[in-house]
Amino acid sequence: MQIIIATGNAHKVLEFEQLLSGLSQQVDSAAVVGGMPTVEENGTTFEANAKLKADAVSALAPLGAYVLADDSGLEVDFLDGAPGVYSARYAGTNADDATNLNKLLTSLYGVESSRRSARFRCVLCLRTGGGKTHFFEGSCEGAIAKEPRGNQGFGYDPIFIPEGYQKSFGELGEAVKGLLSHRSRAIQGLRDFLAAVH
Ligand code: IMP
Repeated sequence: MQIIIATGNAHKVLEFEQLLSGLSQQVDSAAVVGGMPTVEENGTTFEANAKLKADAVSALAPLGAYVLADDSGLEVDFLDGAPGVYSARYAGTNADDATNLNKLLTSLYGVESSRRSARFRCVLCLRTGGGKTHFFEGSCEGAIAKEPRGNQGFGYDPIFIPEGYQKSFGELGEAVKGLLSHRSRAIQGLRDFLAAVH
């Protein structure tokens, strides 16, 4: 059985390949359907946007293939949950990671450490070969640093300090992030599901 990862984000592809390693299913990137199609992520929840991406790739996928999409983002309590589903375009439609991260630091300028709590959230949407839809969710609690630290990972990793650690995901790197992250926790639910049905 084939699982196609519905993302155009090269960093996510790498993380998925690592997190899904050892599965009996064959894992492919969206390159097998000619690349990730453009999807207007106009949902207001992670679930809705993950489903939009899964549906778009399912429409192009070979018969019987499974499709896995994710939608993820950072919720900052001081900002009432922003940037949330808008994490990728917090500083504007074409904003890059550095611009988004700097906007977030500016929004939290002067906010004391005890009020900088946040969490990464990830919702996975699996479309089975038979056309059924399943969701799996994971989150990772932490806090926003006062300046970027480390250059590993992507997105907001250099300013996210997971609970129980003093270092950011940008400093901790893939091995630690792979144990704690919102994406790895959501994947555990997917792994349990796949183990139960196959
Ligand atoms: P998506 O590709 O529409 O799900 O956008 C997710 C956005 O949330 C990314 O562009 C990042 O800004 C942020 N994000 C999601 N997961 C992570 C992560 O693991 N590390 C850092 N930033 C993340």
